Amino acid sequence: MSKDTELTTQLRVGVVGGGQLARMMAESARNLPLTLCVMGSDPGDSAAELADEFSLGSPHSAHDLTLFAGEVDCLTFDHELVNLDAVHALTHDGHHVYPTADSLRFAVHKAYQRTTLAALGILGPAFAVLEKFDDDEFDIFAAVTERVPVVKADHGGYDGRGVLVSDSLDEARIFAQRVGTSSQILLEEPVDIVAEVAVIVVTSRNGERVAYPPVLTRQVDGMCVEVSYPAGLDPAILNECALIADRVADVTGTVGVLAVELFVTSTDVVLNEVATRPHNSGHWTIEGAATSQFENHLRAVAGWPLGDTTPTSAFVTMVNVVGSERPGDPHAALAIPGAHIHDYGKSWRPGRKLGHVTVCGDDDSVVSRAWMAAEALGTSARRKP
Ligand code: ADP
Repeated sequence: MSKDTELTTQLRVGVVGGGQLARMMAESARNLPLTLCVMGSDPGDSAAELADEFSLGSPHSAHDLTLFAGEVDCLTFDHELVNLDAVHALTHDGHHVYPTADSLRFAVHKAYQRTTLAALGILGPAFAVLEKFDDDEFDIFAAVTERVPVVKADHGGYDGRGVLVSDSLDEARIFAQRVGTSSQILLEEPVDIVAEVAVIVVTSRNGERVAYPPVLTRQVDGMCVEVSYPAGLDPAILNECALIADRVADVTGTVGVLAVELFVTSTDVVLNEVATRPHNSGHWTIEGAATSQFENHLRAVAGWPLGDTTPTSAFVTMVNVVGSERPGDPHAALAIPGAHIHDYGKSWRPGRKLGHVTVCGDDDSVVSRAWMAAEALGTSARRKP
């Protein structure tokens, strides 16, 4: 299908934000009868070179969002750090916006997410929300749980920024004081994590729903570094993960991709957090599943039938490429059998997610091959023992 000749009959899907998720949506949009329009904040955004149309605008500006919504048939998001009131108003004015502001709110505000989901019986760690820093409240929570609290900013954090997991009460207190200057503070009991699992659920605007199999995620310093299918855990535990994710999808009413991150303990499965958009834990689906999370996200917001989520291989591993001091060698990475390399086209910066590698195969050598390729590309992330 030629996009040049059929533009007028194609659905125009707008994506707010020009990061790597919008870029990967643009890649998958090539197989779909739609025109992908991205509103980014910088001409150098990751998605700028691959989107069918790219314009500049701020996700915080009601004016820019309204203008952009007027140019497309439906609107979705690369990230959730947007003006929720403006997004709400767009839906009210008849624009098709997915997910809605009510759904995005769960991802934007960790305190709202915990409070609302816990009230509905979807439990995470024991928690407390502090409107601002208060020594007594902090001490009471630490005393009741008899642990050093995990401290989280209510909003604005990502990849472990805005989260502190520490053994030092003083460090946790100082971090909470700092977070409290610009955000509500979420205190959580530290969970003794046996494994971290993520489930991607996709719900179409017509109500159809599919899910990908649960995957094992590994984090270092709060940042996801590796995702593997199969998760290699007891099927009953994985079934529990899938059931919780399905319930979260019901409660948050998320149209499009919803990522549900869970902690598996020696006795239980508890919710970590949710993201109401395509997610790092689903990047493996580009080569590793019959339909990628990006294509299914676009199908869902367009109201089209959802694609098959069955894995293409018995084993799939994705490893992130995180910037170190200098870039690595793509040729060496390409020499690793089966390595699919994704470069987000971002400028090299230490600590920044710059791309990822996926390897699919018949055995668990996919894990070491994915790491070899990511290391050849110069990732600073280290494989978790
Ligand atoms: P982000 O939104 O930045 O991804 P998360 O809330 O998912 O942050 O936390 C990042 C990581 O920190 C988690 O994947 C987990 O490894 C660790 N973590 C978060 N909360 C807890 C907790 N209550 N107990 C133990 N570890 C935690």
